[in-house]
Amino acid sequence: MSLSKINLVVIGHKDHGKSTLIGRLLYDSKSIPEQKLQEIEAELAKAGDESFRFAFLLDTLEEERRGGLTIDIMQTPFKSKKHVYTIIDCPGHREFIKKMLTGASQADAGVLVVSASEGVQDQTKQHAFLVKTLGIQQLIVAVNKMDQLNYKESKFDEMREKLQPVLKALGYEGARMVPISAFTGENVFTKSRKMEWYTGPSLIDLLDEEVKPSTRPVDRPLRAAVQDVYEMGNEKVIVSKILTGMLEQGRAIVLDPSGEVAEVERIQTFGRDLVKAESGDSVGLVLNRPVNASRGQVIGYPQDRARAPKSFVAEMIVFAGATVKKDEALTIRLGTADARCRVREVIEKIDPINLTRAAGSPDALAAGDVGKLALIPLDPLCVEKYSDFPELGRFVVEGKSGTVAAGIVLETEVADVECFARIHAGLGDRWRARPAC
Ligand code: GDP
Repeated sequence: MSLSKINLVVIGHKDHGKSTLIGRLLYDSKSIPEQKLQEIEAELAKAGDESFRFAFLLDTLEEERRGGLTIDIMQTPFKSKKHVYTIIDCPGHREFIKKMLTGASQADAGVLVVSASEGVQDQTKQHAFLVKTLGIQQLIVAVNKMDQLNYKESKFDEMREKLQPVLKALGYEGARMVPISAFTGENVFTKSRKMEWYTGPSLIDLLDEEVKPSTRPVDRPLRAAVQDVYEMGNEKVIVSKILTGMLEQGRAIVLDPSGEVAEVERIQTFGRDLVKAESGDSVGLVLNRPVNASRGQVIGYPQDRARAPKSFVAEMIVFAGATVKKDEALTIRLGTADARCRVREVIEKIDPINLTRAAGSPDALAAGDVGKLALIPLDPLCVEKYSDFPELGRFVVEGKSGTVAAGIVLETEVADVECFARIHAGLGDRWRARPAC
């Protein structure tokens, strides 16, 4: 059986032990390249002190990270019994948001590192909030530095009590917690003898138990983003990037949001024709009849085509120097489309540190704010839920000074407008539990 691939993001307050944990996972899973280890061994032999082995390894990793050396060792994949894990390293949460929203990386699960001796801090909550906002459903909590507290059960229980309300507020109430010491390796790759009171699995076994790989993009319904259209001889070639699913020659496709249907006559790539192409491929399409194709459109099969909603609800993060107001028209970039959308409503504003919602109904989000908005595309636009099709469910907002905000799509509304208005008419949080319209 081949191992499935999982992307993990390690989050938590500064100095709570994220890098140490990553180093530990790589070291104990024997994932550091042999040559690198030999270099380290040689240095150790020179220093003549074996007890520094692990600390030295970490220093090396840290230096590499700072120096930006070519071997990006922190992102070396490591194996467990079930999966191959790759860590998405995020030095800062801004960097992480950017990576996630631009699609540079996609995490399947998060590991929240909380130091048992330092307790829940601002970034503990802020990072967990961001990970939730970015649509990551699976979270594991590693309660670290248990060695500093003599591996006491009571200290772990205290942390659990403090973490529970935070996790609950975010909708991660089911998240499982494991007491560890990244530094000594207790309960990371192997079960600790020093915490026999803990009957659960080690961190790596817990990850194996809990984390489910996401469905392969190729097994999903077809979505292809139109990037460019050009004429070659008397043929029109539609250059498209296949985001999910499989595109097959001879099948009928629909171009949305216009809804024109045609058959795929040829699929071209680098001068040759293909019978089919799959997610990740960029191809040139020739259809059996003339259509009005343009950049920004999305190709699907008629029975499961891209949505062009009347409105959608998004979670947005506003960057420095910007505000987003009710009734304002925003220019957004979503997939290959550039479109204008009106802010119909600022549904709520959330303080990412205290996890509280602003009282009353906010009219705007200011720099640094996170909130939920209802947006109405001013021109037809394909929009999907981020959890269904990440590439078509995330967007950036362009302002005069560049990117001013970014968001992910939580809900799309294709049902009747009246129903949508009812849901959003001052019902605050209740849209979450709305019945199907
Ligand atoms: P990060 O900022 O979250 O990446 O934290 P680091 O991994 O850089 O760790 C911060 C400090 O905590 C370093 O001095 C580590 O040696 C120390 N540290 C990390 N994990 C442990 C642990 O399990 N036990 C102890 N005693 N110290 C730890």
